Amino acid sequence: MKDLLDLTLDEFKSELISQGESGFRAKQVFDWIYKGVFDYNDMKNIPQALKDKLKDGFKVGIPKVVEEYTSNDGTKKLLVSLEDGNLIECVIMKYIHGNTICISTQVGCRMGCKFCASTLGGVIRNITSGEMIGQILLAQNILGERISNVVLMGSGEPLDNFDNVMKFLELVNAEYGLNIGQRHITLSTCGIVPKIYELADKDLSITLAISLHAFSDEKRREIMPIANKYSIKEIMDACAYYIDKTNRRITFEYSLVKGVNDSKEDAKALASLLRGVLCHVNLIPVNEIKEKEYRKSSKEDIKAFEAILKSHGIEATVRREMGSDINAACGQLRRSYLETRNSN
Ligand code: SF4
Repeated sequence: MKDLLDLTLDEFKSELISQGESGFRAKQVFDWIYKGVFDYNDMKNIPQALKDKLKDGFKVGIPKVVEEYTSNDGTKKLLVSLEDGNLIECVIMKYIHGNTICISTQVGCRMGCKFCASTLGGVIRNITSGEMIGQILLAQNILGERISNVVLMGSGEPLDNFDNVMKFLELVNAEYGLNIGQRHITLSTCGIVPKIYELADKDLSITLAISLHAFSDEKRREIMPIANKYSIKEIMDACAYYIDKTNRRITFEYSLVKGVNDSKEDAKALASLLRGVLCHVNLIPVNEIKEKEYRKSSKEDIKAFEAILKSHGIEATVRREMGSDINAACGQLRRSYLETRNSN
């Protein structure tokens, strides 16, 4: 059954017209869905005959909440079930400038980053564009407020699910739908170089975030298997192309792991790698996960690292730790849920 959340308005219109219905009904149905009404029975201006037809031919693929946690800082972490029973996570963060959601783009992940719980069981499947939209609609209904920013940084590597992510970017941006501007969307990748070029050629104004986490190939290979495939030089060349094409500043994500990549020398080497690049560095105190030996850097080391970058003219901020009291790190909630379920 087709998911209406996977369709553009034009695609849905064509579907309705091919079934002998009036095209304008498509917009009426979408108005309800994007207002948060997902049950055809509750769509007041839709004739019963069309409601019946919709029930037989189209679903509205909103995921179901399995567990919901709210942190002391207001961050909400949702463990949700997709229609086939696969579990994914999304996190809703409340900032002064609006609500941000971090969505998942794959069930699991095959990239194998050593600091990440999402990858421990490999990738199970790609998430459809409609399922990505569904995460946002669900979150809006839970909050009773609009989501204004989206980060593709939950489980999965977005560029490993390229076509669905591109369709999602079209859908999320559409005026008839969620109408979230591209500048309010961040796509985070571990650095799949050919796909960065492909993304640059799409000429979008989203923010590209690169999970760098190390300044040398040798150090990077220790924590990110993708570094065996693409060197930092190749990533930086692809970033230069991206900046040139889009004129957008790139964010480099750098997880600080105690004793691995958080020394003063590491900070200086990172500063020299990024010299002259239109960028911003997001320093992330690594989330400790029980299956891995990585530990969080001390507050002093994090501050010193940030100061060194800034003294070299590199813009840097330390990401606020949100929801750390509720297992908010990528993949942790799903993993602990599956473990508990499997041991019962
Ligand atoms: S950090 Fe991202 S790319 Fe790396 S394993 Fe986790 S989900 Fe995949």
